Amino acid sequence: MAVKIDSVPVSEWGFFTLPRPMVIAGPCSAESEEQVMETAKGLSAFGIHVFRAGIWKPRTHPGCFEGAGVPGLKWLQRIKRELGMKVCTEVASEKHVYECIKHGVDMVWIGARTSANPFLMQEIADALQGTDIPVLVKNPVSPDVDLWTGALERLNMAGVKKLGLIHRGFTAMHKIAYRNEPGWGLAIEMRTRFPELPFFADPSHMGGSRKYLAEISQRAMDLGFEGLMVESHCDPACALSDASQQLTPRDLQRLLEEQITVRDADSDAADYRENIKALRSRIDVIDENLLSLLSSRMDVSKSIGQYKKDHNIAILQMDRWDALLDEMVRQGGSKGLSERFLRAFFNDIHEESVRVQNEVLSK
Ligand code: PEP
Ligand code: MN
Repeated sequence: MAVKIDSVPVSEWGFFTLPRPMVIAGPCSAESEEQVMETAKGLSAFGIHVFRAGIWKPRTHPGCFEGAGVPGLKWLQRIKRELGMKVCTEVASEKHVYECIKHGVDMVWIGARTSANPFLMQEIADALQGTDIPVLVKNPVSPDVDLWTGALERLNMAGVKKLGLIHRGFTAMHKIAYRNEPGWGLAIEMRTRFPELPFFADPSHMGGSRKYLAEISQRAMDLGFEGLMVESHCDPACALSDASQQLTPRDLQRLLEEQITVRDADSDAADYRENIKALRSRIDVIDENLLSLLSSRMDVSKSIGQYKKDHNIAILQMDRWDALLDEMVRQGGSKGLSERFLRAFFNDIHEESVRVQNEVLSK
């Protein structure tokens, strides 16, 4: 489902120098003038032009460092002035928006706890009316693409046209290695809905630890994300928030230049085009065969339904299905297909077959 958003392409924002990835970097929180200046200098030294820093921090527990607040905006002004960087921060209320506009913040992002709240989204959208600054919307904490979409719609209806998305993963129901559940499929769904919007991945909040930054960033590049928002701090061990996931500017440079491979979105090279075309036509033929096999299978299901009806037999014989599924998993496994895929695929086929038989029986 494509949702219509009236947007200005990121190439016209004047923020990023392509090619990919477009990088936004800076500390989780602005802690002091020295800390932001030193970090920003380290980043700008290797070509990062867009600086992030949280001025107001949404902390899970009260009593933790909740950000420097308005005085921190003056530090961001200094970064703009002295280093020529663009600066951005998180806004979670209309007051934050007004302060950002007053202090010349170039771009804002909406955090995951805020994009989950339609009341706050409306308040922020109203406060942004009549401004021209870009707004990046993080996914809501819950895996809900409609809620994420609604946040974009509210901003767009208020006239915000420079819009982008940040994928930072979702709250996990169970303990996992990462801080957040990646849920890449939901990001792909948003990508399909809004192909024109620039898409950033936030490996810092998704991974929650320095050791996962490279693999998550690589995954994002493989999936064709245009950008990365990464937390970087001049002295990560002493950071007042998210200490374990921040990188020094030097380590971020190493990550970007040595540890990830950026894939091209596409290629115009003639041999690439020729080969990919040949491979895709093979896939097309196989898909056509799959469709015709599936349709023959459903025809047999209908006959079985009719036969069961004639003999007054129930549709479901679970023993038979369990045995068949196990056999398919065994055979498929020996052909290199994963158990997860085989179970999901054959269960879907079975469900459809039961539906078809039900139709026959209820006639
Ligand atoms: C942040 O970017 O500093 C932040 C609080 O992130 P999130 O909203 O993704 O938790
Ligand atoms: Mn953070």
